[in-house]
Amino acid sequence: MAERQVQVTSRLGLHARAAANLVRVAMQFQSSLTLQRLDGNAKADAKSILSILTLAASRGTELRVVAHGDDEQEALDALVGLFSRDFDETEKVDGRRFSRAINEFRCKGLGVSDGIVIGRVMRLQEGTHEVYRAHIADADLERERRRFRAAVRLSRRQLEAIKDRAEKELGRGHAYIFDAHLLFLQDAKLTRDVEDYIVKEHSNAEWAAKVVGDRLLSIYTQINDDYLRERGSDIEDVIQRLLANLTGEGLKYPNLSEDAVIVSTDLLPSTIAELNLNHVKAIATDAGGWTSHMAIIARGLGLTAVVGLRDFYQRTRTGDQIIVDARAGEVVLHPVPETVEHYRFTVHEAGPIAETPGKLECGPVTTRDGVEISLRANVELPTEFQAVRDFGACGVGLFRSEFLLSRPGLMSSEDEQYEVYKELVDAAGEYGAVVRLFDVGGEFGPDLKERERNPALGLRAVRFNLRHPQIMRTQVRAILRAAAAGPLSLVIPMVADVADVRLAKRVIEEEVERLASEKVTFSRVKIGAMIEVPSAVLTAEKLAAEVDFFELGTNDLVQYTLAVDRGNDKVSDWFRTLHPAVLYGINRTIEAANSAQIPVIVCGEMASTPSYAVLLVGLGAVDLSMIPAMIPRVRNVLTEITASEVHEVALKCLAAATADEVEELVKNL
Ligand code: PEP
Ligand code: MG
Repeated sequence: MAERQVQVTSRLGLHARAAANLVRVAMQFQSSLTLQRLDGNAKADAKSILSILTLAASRGTELRVVAHGDDEQEALDALVGLFSRDFDETEKVDGRRFSRAINEFRCKGLGVSDGIVIGRVMRLQEGTHEVYRAHIADADLERERRRFRAAVRLSRRQLEAIKDRAEKELGRGHAYIFDAHLLFLQDAKLTRDVEDYIVKEHSNAEWAAKVVGDRLLSIYTQINDDYLRERGSDIEDVIQRLLANLTGEGLKYPNLSEDAVIVSTDLLPSTIAELNLNHVKAIATDAGGWTSHMAIIARGLGLTAVVGLRDFYQRTRTGDQIIVDARAGEVVLHPVPETVEHYRFTVHEAGPIAETPGKLECGPVTTRDGVEISLRANVELPTEFQAVRDFGACGVGLFRSEFLLSRPGLMSSEDEQYEVYKELVDAAGEYGAVVRLFDVGGEFGPDLKERERNPALGLRAVRFNLRHPQIMRTQVRAILRAAAAGPLSLVIPMVADVADVRLAKRVIEEEVERLASEKVTFSRVKIGAMIEVPSAVLTAEKLAAEVDFFELGTNDLVQYTLAVDRGNDKVSDWFRTLHPAVLYGINRTIEAANSAQIPVIVCGEMASTPSYAVLLVGLGAVDLSMIPAMIPRVRNVLTEITASEVHEVALKCLAAATADEVEELVKNL
């Protein structure tokens, strides 16, 4: 055995490229080669890049190199020589990669909630699927291992191609990271552990790769050195690739540190629902707008959030320090100490209670001229139920039930749904609650793999329900059963045609009859239609004859009337809630409902913006549903108005030609 002490003197420590060089040299010898930290027990196999990186050996770290075997002396000399030459890093440090660690970077987006937060990036890749555990029988274990090896080979070929391209286009200095990725892939610590796990646990390869990957990543998240901790995300990349090559699925929902800021290109609301919300401090996404579902749910949960950051995701690494300033609609990556200091004085987490009312008022609000307006709560998750009472809401005007579907492909059972709806009834109290039938698209159905060309115009909402009657029937039964516990109604989303309503009503009626014949306790419910597409507005009189009430979904009404994707930041300038065409649609819907003497609840985000709420009252709305935390603010504004006066302004708005003109008029409300 031969051993010697060395010190890491290179600026970036024993990072990925240095470790890759070390592995390459170590592999030339037969002897076993171990690195041991002198300040603890951490030990690493010098022939395993993953093992070396877990040493977290930053500049100044002292190590013992131990060689054991026939060529131990030569091996030791070679390794020690490499340390003294700073790992032969002849190329300049990769400026771009390194600059991420040292240069403060600011990015402007759209703040969609309140709060300023300082935390650490947790990257979440959306669009990948969840990994499931499957039991593999003895006879199939060898096949599973072969499948894993094939995925490793395919990943290697892909990485080699990427590396070649990077070398040609960016130069050798930028391609080195793929060398490290290739070494990760070949590392016995990864491949052997995965194969062992498959055999020992009778596990499918995807699950085994995920478990082993998670274990490795958890070691990295604990590393103190910022630069070295970043390498965890390189491992994450490799594992993602492996999982993608195994099934087209990827790693999701990692463990969250306590100051996690979720950074993603886009985020499904159901993903947020599945995260440990006690740990999530803020959200920053590339896509999204004020009315995208992610933004709505972030506001509802009191999470600080900035959306529409374009290509921010790709600049981040898990573990980076980040400041999210929702007030200014800005994020700061790698803030310099002065910036952090500046923000420390202003840090303010949104918290679920954006504005605590001095004295809690409940029930409807009355305008100066005696018009009574109900203020209800929009609720997405059971965790928000408490807020219904906290903010004095007149029950729940809209329960977006689809957030019960915790992940694509998985439906809650009838009993699970029943429990939630019953809780909802309790939370809503005497004013009752309205459950929306699942407003989801293809990503939740049995045809999970089938991506639609244009999901907003696709098999969404009522169309989805009618195509998947089993899913619809299960939900309807759960709602009917829960209605026995208190006032509960049901609303059909995205109705575009009277036929949609008739077909849905027939399914509901059949379930009523079935429950009655099964002697199950239930209660009939009022049935409403969401008015949120132009065809529904244009046929509002006919729809009004079919249902007990309307819900005006202004978010989608703006999207579909103006042909502007509500979640696409590139067209957010065209998303004009106050466009005269939208006001015309609202006005027409309210008039049709009034003629048919059915109520209309306005439940889009428009209702939670105080000046817009005033305009809605001017257009004749007397029932508004919004984020619970906004109720006190809207209440304060509405007590000060005279409905007949704001009606005059609303008429002028309807006569205006442009959204700008309407905005000017609304300023004076
Ligand atoms: C709406 O479209 O305005 C609405 C209330 O529903 P959602 O935002 O969930 O589409
Ligand atoms: Mg909608």
